[in-house]
Amino acid sequence: MSVLVLLEQRGELKPCALEAATIAGQIAKASGMALNACYIGQSLSDQAESLKGFGIEKVYAYENASLSHYSNDGYVPIVRDLVNELGAKVIIGSSSALGKEFCASVAARLGAELVQDAIGLGWDGGLKATKPLYAGKVISETKITTFPAMASVRPNVISIERNGDGAPELVKRDMPQVSLRTVLKEAAQATAGTIELTEAKVVVSGGRGIGGPENWPVIEDLAKALGAAAGASRAVVDAGWVHHSHQVGQTGKVVSPDIYVACGISGAIQHQAGMRTSKIIVAINKDPEANIFKICDYGIVGDLFEVCPLLAAEVRKVRAS
Ligand SMILES: Cc1cc2nc3c(=O)[nH]c(=O)nc-3n(C[C@H](O)[C@H](O)[C@H](O)COP(=O)(O)OP(=O)(O)OC[C@H]3O[C@@H](n4cnc5c(N)ncnc54)[C@H](O)[C@@H]3O)c2cc1C
Repeated sequence: MSVLVLLEQRGELKPCALEAATIAGQIAKASGMALNACYIGQSLSDQAESLKGFGIEKVYAYENASLSHYSNDGYVPIVRDLVNELGAKVIIGSSSALGKEFCASVAARLGAELVQDAIGLGWDGGLKATKPLYAGKVISETKITTFPAMASVRPNVISIERNGDGAPELVKRDMPQVSLRTVLKEAAQATAGTIELTEAKVVVSGGRGIGGPENWPVIEDLAKALGAAAGASRAVVDAGWVHHSHQVGQTGKVVSPDIYVACGISGAIQHQAGMRTSKIIVAINKDPEANIFKICDYGIVGDLFEVCPLLAAEVRKVRAS
């Protein structure tokens, strides 16, 4: 009986993999089960140090260049077989764009109950999971009592915590003979050098208040000053001012950064669904009655075209000193 954590990578282990390892370690401790990990990708050896301190006993590493990019055909059978071999009782993954698909497929193959996009997990004779529903209006609590039980964790909501444990044992596994029906040959980023929205620690988003695509650089500049990813409301995306990959909300991406700055966004419930779990929310809006002010920690009633450049200049000044 053990807990298995699925370590997501994109060349390097992603922060969400370490967040999943943190919470999986806590479940292992509370349940008295051992914690193991599964890594599939090009090479783990040079990153094994970063897996110290989570209480992981063994990392089963399936290292192969052909599986450096996620492939459903390739990854899912590996995890299914490993879960069966280890008799894993609890499986924890990440609720990233990739992880949601991966975890759903693994759960289907195992006939396991799965809670996706959990913002909290615990153990009480079963796997307890907390997750937001109905655009964040309801927080549901679920307990899975059939095994294996699975959950995927929303990126950025768990803080990575290490204790004093040493590095886990690395168990190198031969790649099973898989015939891949689909092979991802190359992942091209829309804009080189940008920060992935769902994993960013700071997000600056622009809404209809920016007035048009010619003003998008105001948002990008503040994002650049803060080292943030740039997000947008659906109004901005639907108008064709920026690409859909920037959209935050119910029908866009769900983000939980340390700081979320909403500029010229009214705060519709569908937008909140994608950012409400942010740790600190800053709103800039010229309408003092805007909904966004009801959920923000810091509100600035003002014109974003004045406030954003001032904020960016101030941040740059502080950083330079
Ligand atoms: C099924 C469904 C799914 C949806 N999914 C999403 C989703 O995923 N994401 C999402 O965002 N929306 C989504 N929506 C749309 C949502 O309901 C809102 O229409 C949308 O979020 C509004 O975007 P906005 O806040 O940018 O625009 P608006 O509501 O028009 O707000 C613009 C704000 O800008 C302010 N403003 C204007 N000029 C300035 C200025 N110069 N300086 C400062 N402030 C200024 C205004 O006071 C106003 O508050 C969805 C809707 C439906 C029905």
